[in-house]
This record gives sequence, C-alpha cells and structure tokens, in this order.
Amino acid sequence: MASLHALFGGTFDPIHYGHLKTVQALAQEVSLHQVTLLPNNVPPHRPQPEASAAQRVAMVRLAIADRPLFNLDTRELERQTPSYTVETLEQLRAERGTHQPLAFIIGQDSLLSLHKWHRWQQLMDLCHLLVCQRPGYARAMPTPALQEWLEQHQTADASALHQQPAGLIWLADTPLVPVSATDIRRRRHQGLSCEDLLPPAVIDYINHQGLYTK
Ligand code: ATP
Repeated sequence: MASLHALFGGTFDPIHYGHLKTVQALAQEVSLHQVTLLPNNVPPHRPQPEASAAQRVAMVRLAIADRPLFNLDTRELERQTPSYTVETLEQLRAERGTHQPLAFIIGQDSLLSLHKWHRWQQLMDLCHLLVCQRPGYARAMPTPALQEWLEQHQTADASALHQQPAGLIWLADTPLVPVSATDIRRRRHQGLSCEDLLPPAVIDYINHQGLYTK
C-alpha cells in the first residue's frame, strides 16, 4: 500500500505559522511523511490576493526550504481557469490511481463553509479530509444535515486513513495557532511588526518586495 499523500491548498497571501505549525502537528498526529502545498489561482471575480502568484510561490518556497515535510505543486497557478479543488483532486487521483490514499488538509473555517465549494460532495469520493482546529470557529456544522454528513464520514482511527483511499474525515487535535493572512496584511498596512507570525525569511522577502504596504 502506497503511503498517505496529503495536499494543502491555500491562497498563501502570505504563508504563515497558522499553516506551517498546525500542519506539522497534524503530520505527527496521523503520520504524514509528505505534504504538498497547492497555491490557489484566485478566479477573476473574487477579491484578488495582494501578492502576485509569483510572489506567493516565492514565499512558499522560502517557508519550506528548511522544512522537509513540505513540497510545492504549482499546477493550479499554471491553469487559466479558476482552481476548483475537486478538479485538482480528480487530476491527482487520475495520476496516482484508485488505490493511493489521498488527503486534503483544511482548517476548521473551511470545513464550516465546505458546502459552498464547487461539487463539494464529490470531494469525499476523491480524498480524505484532515481538519485542523482554528481559533474562533465553531466545532459544530452550521446545519443538522451537514452535521450528519460529517458524522457519517468521521473517523477516530488514524490507521484507516492509510488503508482506505478516500472518504474519511479526521478532526485533528492540533494546537490553536491564532494567525491569519488577513491579520498579517492588516498589521503591515498599520506598520506593525509581524515577527513570530511567519518565518523570518518570508518577512525579509515581504520587506524587500514592499508587500502589503499600499
Ligand atoms: P486569509 O486571512 O487571507 O483568508 P488564511 O490565513 O485563512 O487567509 P489561506 O491561505 O486562505 O489562509 O488558508 C489555507 C488553508 O489554511 C485553509 O484551509 C485555512 O482554513 C487554513 N488555515 C489558515 N490559517 C490557519 C490557522 N491559523 N489554523 C488552522 N488552519 C488555518
């Protein structure tokens, strides 16, 4: 059986310790050996990231340079069309075959709004979901039907994630890291320090590029 391959999508505008530290703890919790970061292509009708795609990728590269758990896949940025997670996962599933266990990592905020994602119910046919806690977000789903959906898929058996190819939800017991990219951008706009919120190499890059100041 191939080992569980985990993917972590995000805008990463910029990547920060809320991403890195929670996923490192998750990797310990469920024995992940490799996590692939998938920076999003933000569709034109949505608010655009402040950093360009090239700058977001550069920041991810700097953040993971000394973190061997992570690698980078830029396929969503190379497409001209909006990046729908379900389509990326279909592509990865086709590449990896039907037996490979695949997992998609999200924060609790993303779980609570997952039912708004394109073809969200098909996600469970393609992958497991590994959900990291995030401070300030409810544990219960917004409707009884969604709560029932969650309970149908939820597992407390980490080894099942490595044995089944898809279909399970793991609610992780990862530490709460109170950092968001929105807060980092706001602090920069206000001229406040972002030390301890993201890796020093990423802060240096942000300073050099003059990001999040206008
Ligand atoms: P923004 O503030 O711009 O919305 P963000 O900080 O939420 O950005 P994203 O790149 O949009 O970062 O997030 C990618 C994924 O990481 C999402 O699934 C999100 O839930 C998760 N995530 C982000 N920050 C945290 C955090 N502090 N703890 C746990 N999960 C997080």
